[in-house]
Amino acid sequence: MPFTLPELSYSFDSLEPHIDAQTMQIHHDKHHQTYVDKLNAALEGTDWADKSIEEVIANISNLPTDKQKAVRNNGGGHFNHSFFWSLLKSNNGQLPTGQLAEAINRDLGSFDEFKKRFTDAAVNQFGSGWAWLVSDNGQLKVVATPNQDNPLMDNPSLKLIIGLDVWEHAYYLKYQNQRPAYIEAFWNVINWDVAEQNFAG
Ligand code: MN
Repeated sequence: MPFTLPELSYSFDSLEPHIDAQTMQIHHDKHHQTYVDKLNAALEGTDWADKSIEEVIANISNLPTDKQKAVRNNGGGHFNHSFFWSLLKSNNGQLPTGQLAEAINRDLGSFDEFKKRFTDAAVNQFGSGWAWLVSDNGQLKVVATPNQDNPLMDNPSLKLIIGLDVWEHAYYLKYQNQRPAYIEAFWNVINWDVAEQNFAG
């Protein structure tokens, strides 16, 4: 079965004013759809076309050599964006609670220190890429990846807790060259319930 674009569980305008509706529509309907289409084209006729995207990502180095670049870019694009959409919700200033909040304090010092480190990773990712909060056997770490790579490609045992797309297509319509303003806005649209489930799951 071909890979398909997931429906959003919320409307394009529901993240306003932090992420604008037009950006969400183009980002989901055009950019993400293109990753899905190119992933399907790359894997057509191979056994990998019937696997889950999680399995494809975890086995990126085991794919046929001539497919690896296309799948890294487009399979990564499909996986990363599906993860990103699931994480977004206007949170009215909510902060993480429970085990995730405890782990942030334990491993990263405090929520503010975590926010600073994550922001630095996102601002300083040169060119296109992503910033991530990952759990490495329960220990939280902040990392960044280029292009549509994600941390699971090198280490499938990690768990992704949150991720932020810092490609210009994710923010340029509203924020133009001001990536830091977009990153600051992101803290208003993290669904901490989902992040806590990602950590516990
Ligand atoms: Mn994107």
